[in-house]
Amino acid sequence: MELIVARSREDLVKARRTGPVALVPTMGALHEGHRSLIRQARVRADQVVVSIFVNPLQFSPNEDFSRYPRTFDADLDVCRGEGVDVVFHPAVEDMYAADRQISISSGEMGRIVEGAFRPGHFDGMLTVVLKLFNLVQPDLAVFGQKDAQQLALIRRMVADLDLPIEILGAPTVREPDGLALSSRNRYLSDDDRRVALALSRALRAGAAQLTPGEIRASARAVLDEAGPELDVDYLALVDPATFVEVSDSYQGMAVLAVAARVGTTRLIDNVTLTLNPA
Ligand code: AMP
Repeated sequence: MELIVARSREDLVKARRTGPVALVPTMGALHEGHRSLIRQARVRADQVVVSIFVNPLQFSPNEDFSRYPRTFDADLDVCRGEGVDVVFHPAVEDMYAADRQISISSGEMGRIVEGAFRPGHFDGMLTVVLKLFNLVQPDLAVFGQKDAQQLALIRRMVADLDLPIEILGAPTVREPDGLALSSRNRYLSDDDRRVALALSRALRAGAAQLTPGEIRASARAVLDEAGPELDVDYLALVDPATFVEVSDSYQGMAVLAVAARVGTTRLIDNVTLTLNPA
């Protein structure tokens, strides 16, 4: 089957099939992490739609919207290789009318942890995800655990707004040395990359501990060892559904999440842990 490139709602309607449709939203510069999401979608759906759209709404003016990597031709090759049916690649001006007014609020949950460092980011992300859901009308959509707060907010939006879409989370794909794959990794120099390894190392050190206090302290110690080249925004141990910090007596699943800047590149990573299992 030939890969279809859709640029509008009309193109999507023409391409739509009747069986289950899965959507994999991306900003392009596709890597193995994206491939794993596509494969998960493939297993569950008759038709796989990958959207490739660098969403200006989720970047603030001081962020990297204009220099975000755009590798559309290589992305099409990845999609062909993975048996994707449709690539949805709209133009910014077709997605956002100049006189647009309405957008999604991510609430308090979108203003904590990652949201505290990227004001407006999660509002812009949820707005584009809802638009993509309405345009593609998928039965299910696949998102990476790599962006754990994003995944939690999308599940919250689906519940709060009664969206008839199943959300699947996919595990984080890493380099052999532990670095989580990211489209932004291509900005890292060799030295930056060595410094960046402290993120996954800190998460592993935390995950080896038992109590919230020990987990936070041992992850923090690894980040501190990395020195001033690693500029940490936050290290947080949170409830995976709410992203609120867990208490010392918390039991159950938790996410240990970190964000840091290395040179001019901002990286995030996280692991899921089980605390105080009975
Ligand atoms: P992005 O193109 O960075 O917006 O990411 C698109 C989707 O791919 C999101 O659901 C991400 O969470 C997911 N993703 C990004 N990096 C990884 C990774 N290393 N492993 C698994 N999923 C990922």
